[in-house]
Amino acid sequence: MGYTKQKILNMAETEDVEFIRLQFTDLFGTLKNVAITKSQLAKALDNKIMFDGSSIEGFARIEESDMYLYPDYDTFEILPFRPHQGKVARMICDVYKPDGTQLENDPRYILKKVLKEAEDMGYEFNVGPECEFFLFHTDDYGNPTTISHEKGSYFDLGPTDLGENARRDMVLNLEEMGFEVEASHHEVAPAQHEIDFKYGEALETADKIMTYKLTVKTIAKRHGLYASFMPKPKYGMCGSGMHINMSLFNKEGQNIFVDENDKNGLSKEAYNFIAGLMKHMRSMTAIINPIVNSYKRLVPGYEAPTYIAWSATNRSPLIRVPAARGLGTRVELRSPDCATNPYLAIAVCLAAGLDGIKNNLQPVESIQRDIYSMTDEERDEAGIENLPKNLYEAIQEMRKSDFVKGVLGKEVFKKYIKAKEEEWMEYTSQVTDWEIDRYLGRI
Ligand code: GLU
Ligand code: MG
Ligand code: MG
Repeated sequence: MGYTKQKILNMAETEDVEFIRLQFTDLFGTLKNVAITKSQLAKALDNKIMFDGSSIEGFARIEESDMYLYPDYDTFEILPFRPHQGKVARMICDVYKPDGTQLENDPRYILKKVLKEAEDMGYEFNVGPECEFFLFHTDDYGNPTTISHEKGSYFDLGPTDLGENARRDMVLNLEEMGFEVEASHHEVAPAQHEIDFKYGEALETADKIMTYKLTVKTIAKRHGLYASFMPKPKYGMCGSGMHINMSLFNKEGQNIFVDENDKNGLSKEAYNFIAGLMKHMRSMTAIINPIVNSYKRLVPGYEAPTYIAWSATNRSPLIRVPAARGLGTRVELRSPDCATNPYLAIAVCLAAGLDGIKNNLQPVESIQRDIYSMTDEERDEAGIENLPKNLYEAIQEMRKSDFVKGVLGKEVFKKYIKAKEEEWMEYTSQVTDWEIDRYLGRI
């Protein structure tokens, strides 16, 4: 796009923009923003807007709390779901320290670092996410419930239309912000939906995932619904994933995962990339499946992966190669969920793939069979490992990994593990309804 300061000031003027949200994302994937009025826009574009970073999760220590927001000009966008007079625009920002250097703990910076490495190797990283979500009712106080309109036979107005109308509105709003929506459909579970947009350059896509979630939630609310990206909101039903489709292009815009002479149509680099992902999968799972609930999704029987395997044909494995060839040739990783911080998720995926390329790693044989029908012995023989079974196991794997430490940087690595350990400790000391049902009357 190549927006300049003057161009943005002009757009704000002609479009009647009154407020500008300066957005960034904390370590755990929550979108944050500082809102300014039009009078401050020029100052913001000069990188002069300061905020207190010590109150942002994972950002900084108290003694160095002053942070500056450097807006990425090209992310200037008017939010179509805000008022049409006195409009609201936003810009996504990088976080800088007072000494003018970038904050190492900023997830966007962490992704940029790995992207730079890819660029130095001659690659552009392309990513296409598939974010799934549920549309639930809210209670009388506006709090989310897990009750879905599609079960609500007590509803007078055609109940399924409610979700579909909301989804239509979401698509229109996303398109207004420049998303190229490729598919939007109902998912397997009642009230579960998916809206897919076209793959693009990785940083732009990570930004887009944040915008997508905000848009979906905002529009759902407007329709009296609550959109939840929680990985497994309901026992006994499919959970919501965020499959990540990945490919590397060269400077000439060619997809380097393609090799027409190979039996799967894949290049050496594509195989290396898959091998890198598989090698680091157990240690990066705490990043791409970051919460206690993530692991309730990664169980057999709901189209979510549980084993570390790949296939060029079968749908169920952790990594698959979708049928599209040519420019659309890609590797799809099926374990991530929307609780992840997309900047960190994409950073670890790319770093793992690049490690595969740098070290010429070869993946084990692809799996053509249904892994779930194999016995434990057969899986052992085929060298098929499990994904971590819970957050605790995932954190222990991450703790051992110099690879993840290298991607995140020492301080973020430490902070992340500490926070996740606390989360696990709090969870594991709860007495759940399941336990009461199962044990109270029996023991
Ligand atoms: N909802 C499934 C999951 O948990 C994925 C369904 C699909 O293949 O799109 O990952
Ligand atoms: Mg899906
Ligand atoms: Mg998929």
